[in-house]
Amino acid sequence: MSRRTPIFSTTLYEKYFVPEYNEILLSDAESAYVGEGRTLRVGVVTNRPPYQFMDKKGFAGISVDFLQYIAENTGLQFELVPVTGTQQQEQLIESGALDMMAGITYDYQLAQTLGVAMTRPYLSTQYVLILNDAVNEQEMSGRRLAVVKNLGVQPGDAENLVYFDTIDECIRAVNRGEADATYVDASTAQYYINHPEYNQLKVISQIHDQWQLCFGVAKSQTRHLLSILNKAIASVPADQMQAFVYDNTMYQQQITLWSFIQSHPAEVVAVVLAFLLCIVALLLIWMRQRVKANRKMALDLKKHLQIYSLVNDYFIEYDFQADTLMVTSPATDQEDSVKIHTYSCGDAGEDIVGGGILDYIRAHDQGVVEMEQRWLDGQNHWLRLAVKTVHDDEGNPAYTIGKVTMIDEEKREQELLIEQAQQDGLTGVLNARAVRLQVEQNLAELSGQESGALLLIDIDNFKSINDTFGHMRGDEILKKVAGLLARSFRSNDVVGRPGGDEFIVYMRNVRDLRDLQDKCGDLCGKVRKIKIASGRYATISLGAALACSGSDYVEVYERADKALYQAKEKGRDRYEIALPESVSEAAGPKEDAGGRGLES
Ligand code: GH3
Ligand code: MG
Repeated sequence: MSRRTPIFSTTLYEKYFVPEYNEILLSDAESAYVGEGRTLRVGVVTNRPPYQFMDKKGFAGISVDFLQYIAENTGLQFELVPVTGTQQQEQLIESGALDMMAGITYDYQLAQTLGVAMTRPYLSTQYVLILNDAVNEQEMSGRRLAVVKNLGVQPGDAENLVYFDTIDECIRAVNRGEADATYVDASTAQYYINHPEYNQLKVISQIHDQWQLCFGVAKSQTRHLLSILNKAIASVPADQMQAFVYDNTMYQQQITLWSFIQSHPAEVVAVVLAFLLCIVALLLIWMRQRVKANRKMALDLKKHLQIYSLVNDYFIEYDFQADTLMVTSPATDQEDSVKIHTYSCGDAGEDIVGGGILDYIRAHDQGVVEMEQRWLDGQNHWLRLAVKTVHDDEGNPAYTIGKVTMIDEEKREQELLIEQAQQDGLTGVLNARAVRLQVEQNLAELSGQESGALLLIDIDNFKSINDTFGHMRGDEILKKVAGLLARSFRSNDVVGRPGGDEFIVYMRNVRDLRDLQDKCGDLCGKVRKIKIASGRYATISLGAALACSGSDYVEVYERADKALYQAKEKGRDRYEIALPESVSEAAGPKEDAGGRGLES
């Protein structure tokens, strides 16, 4: 026989070439067939995963991968044609629109129906039972079994069958619980079990029947195509076929957030709820702590105000950033609570609380100062300010806190003490030390043509007044003379009692000698009106010395003292004036520089 059958040639091929060489060795006739370069139209079922199906990228599946392998290793060219089911396959084969089928069950009856010749099986698996998760596999009798219409052999119980068009629909029905079980091959079961969408399935491999897959070849192509395909099937390495199975049964899902949520809805809800609960718990803790902190702050403020109310002082707090000054004024008899005043220092603050305080705060980190300032009541007061500045982490001033004490009373007492320290206890005019200091100061201030005069006054026969009328009367006379002196001179002249019955007067701005003579005479006259006793009046002797710029106290005093001595010498109740040495030397002794003054 020149015409060999495909099976015979395949048997020979297997005997001599396989499995030593995983290589497809074509005969000359087969090579010539391939060389014709015609494209073979292959029917590929679009809904039979993992063997043949269509997804977004196009045709896929174990059969499609294997066809690709055959094309690469034999040179055959395939054009994949989508078909939906057995009926359409049959029509397309009959009409000659298809040259072969990518995969059909290795079943003679089916092949006959389709009008194709079968290649040898290229894949063989066992049947397994797929059950809905809720079904107890121990009690299978009477269960609803999903089967595909017109698919030839179906193993298992023939009772209670529920029919579907495709295996895919059967498995979906089991997953949804519309059927209890279905029979599929192990690879198909693997594919669906791996798919996250089918999560209500379980598999029991209890059936030992084999299920096999082969190519179906249209009768017109059987001569060469069938043998080439059989050689390809025989020589495909087992691990290569295994790889096709593995690639198509493992569900390679790109994990997106949405797909993850779909596949783990309960877990996602639990995680989201836990997360929300955590946030709510954190919020509650935070709010609780804030409330606590606010309460503590309010309590602290209350405590501070309570302390402030116990102290008769003002407390200040200057905020450098806000440029505000807060002043708490102490409780008063009218208001028993502390009052808080806040001033924005950029505008009216300085007028109200006194610019001096702010100037001091801005210039000093800490310190104590006394100043006379306009204060909260709008009046000027003596204030003692004690401040300390608090710095932030970078060392910049943040706050200055301080205490303001009103020290008007203290200042008055201080001034009184100073005054008292300068006063003669008996007469109230300046004492010896103070009068000398002030006269020295006045002499030092003399300038240009300015003149001053130092008057030394001594009560005449004072000892006899004491002796005759008593010491008390003597004191009274001293007070009267002092009062007269204080009244007779300008407020900025100096009047003092260095001791005993002696007084000193320093007159500022003496116009000329005449002016001084008038003043001295006038004074002598006034003293004569001080009555000591009936018919007896006081008198004084007065020595005056003119002073000009550069005059020295001791020198002027000595001249005045000399003049006083002369007045005493000349019979008392009179004045004598000593001119500055430069003047008296130039003019010679002046007879008329002294006198007795006004007669009463
Ligand atoms: P002369 O005219 O020369 O000045 O005679 P005199 O008696 O006034 O003599 P002198 O000025 O030296 O005497 C001053 C007297 O003043 C001496 C002293 O007893 C008296 N005396 C001093 N201090 C006080 C005082 O505080 N009160 C009284 N009552 N007498 C005083
Ligand atoms: Mg005297």
